[in-house]
Amino acid sequence: MSNPTGQKVIVVGLGAHGSSAAYQLAKRGVEVVGIDQFHPPHSMGSSHGPSRILRMAYKEGPDYVPLLRRSFDLWHELNDLHTEPSFEVTGGLFMGQPTGRAMTGMQASSQAQDVEIRLMTPAEVRDKYPSFHIPDGWEAIFDPKSGAIFPEVAVAAHLSLATQAGADLRFDEQVTGWSASSSGSGVTVTTSHGEYEADSLILTAGVWIPGMLGDLELPFEIERVSLWMVEPRANHDFFRAGNFPNASFEIGEKYPIYMQADYGTGVKLALDHHGTLTTPETVNRETNQEDHDKIFEHIRRFIPDLDGKVLDSAVCMYTNTPDLNFVVDKHPAHDNVIIGSACSGHGFKFAPVMGEILADLALEGESDFDLEMFSATRFG
Ligand SMILES: Cc1cc2nc3c(=O)[nH]c(=O)nc-3n(C[C@H](O)[C@H](O)[C@H](O)COP(=O)(O)OP(=O)(O)OC[C@H]3O[C@@H](n4cnc5c(N)ncnc54)[C@H](O)[C@@H]3O)c2cc1C
Repeated sequence: MSNPTGQKVIVVGLGAHGSSAAYQLAKRGVEVVGIDQFHPPHSMGSSHGPSRILRMAYKEGPDYVPLLRRSFDLWHELNDLHTEPSFEVTGGLFMGQPTGRAMTGMQASSQAQDVEIRLMTPAEVRDKYPSFHIPDGWEAIFDPKSGAIFPEVAVAAHLSLATQAGADLRFDEQVTGWSASSSGSGVTVTTSHGEYEADSLILTAGVWIPGMLGDLELPFEIERVSLWMVEPRANHDFFRAGNFPNASFEIGEKYPIYMQADYGTGVKLALDHHGTLTTPETVNRETNQEDHDKIFEHIRRFIPDLDGKVLDSAVCMYTNTPDLNFVVDKHPAHDNVIIGSACSGHGFKFAPVMGEILADLALEGESDFDLEMFSATRFG
């Protein structure tokens, strides 16, 4: 393929964001080398499991909505380009106390960015969805654009499209170091297999990113979380794909327990940000009774129909920043090294737009989106 830009870019880490960046770069005719220590999709990092949630009325802040709108369109585009769908609109019902982060944050995003939402009272929820035991005094918001992403399909789709567009993808090859010339004219990447040179470098190494930043110390924390697949003990039809909206109940006033439809492997349950700190090297990759009890205590309270047989479970990891916003920025010391990581447990839905942004940062040095909240220097 011709390379009108004349540029070469190395992408380290081909999970959610790296696979999308490799595709976006290759699509533009750029020479791309993508490297991963495993063969994505795999279950060692942050991008495995049956489904992820996309929400449009974003409780994390209205500034995310323009990114979500672009991602939403790109998810549909990805469905058109690949044999297996990566995304479908399901709608989502999010429940919590009126003063909690979900209810206040979703309404703030809706108002600031004109995002459609529908408010429901607890009585209306119980009437329409008898399996949801929402307490009196709570509120519920239905987000009609909310959807389910199939993460392993999405990563495979981006990788397949990247290869078709000419990207050179190398799997089971570990990056052991990189350097950037002081003049900013190029980068060298060393791996378990050899050495590569390019004009610029994109680092999308997920939970391994802290070990990849050299002297740059960013306040990242890795959090171990578990996800569970269950067979409902009653009303199974309600929980099947096509019938069931994404749903969450906020616990306290900050983070929810959430669930997604049964796509054939059980209903997915997880607790957001109720995990423990870890590292990718030392993490306990087996779920245990404590993980189980932590989540099923809330299931019994809010959705007793889901207190059924556990079909499967898995451990997954988040890369958190102190404010839980991502880091998507040029390396403070090297303009041609781009960091795209630390998605703080809510990054998958942005993968398509992040691919575009990372490609723009590598090729043009800037993006049309406002990336201020993702700055690598915001931590002081
Ligand atoms: C249980 C769970 C539920 C979630 N739910 C949602 C949700 O509902 N909605 C949502 O939007 N987000 C959700 N997230 C967050 C989302 O999944 C992550 O933000 C996203 O998957 C992170 O993608 P990534 O590309 O940064 O990391 P990954 O996909 O893990 O990719 C990083 C890649 O870098 C590679 N790598 C690392 N080091 C090296 C090296 N030295 N050499 C070569 N390769 C290397 C790794 O092998 C890996 O393939 C959830 C996360 C978890 C764990």
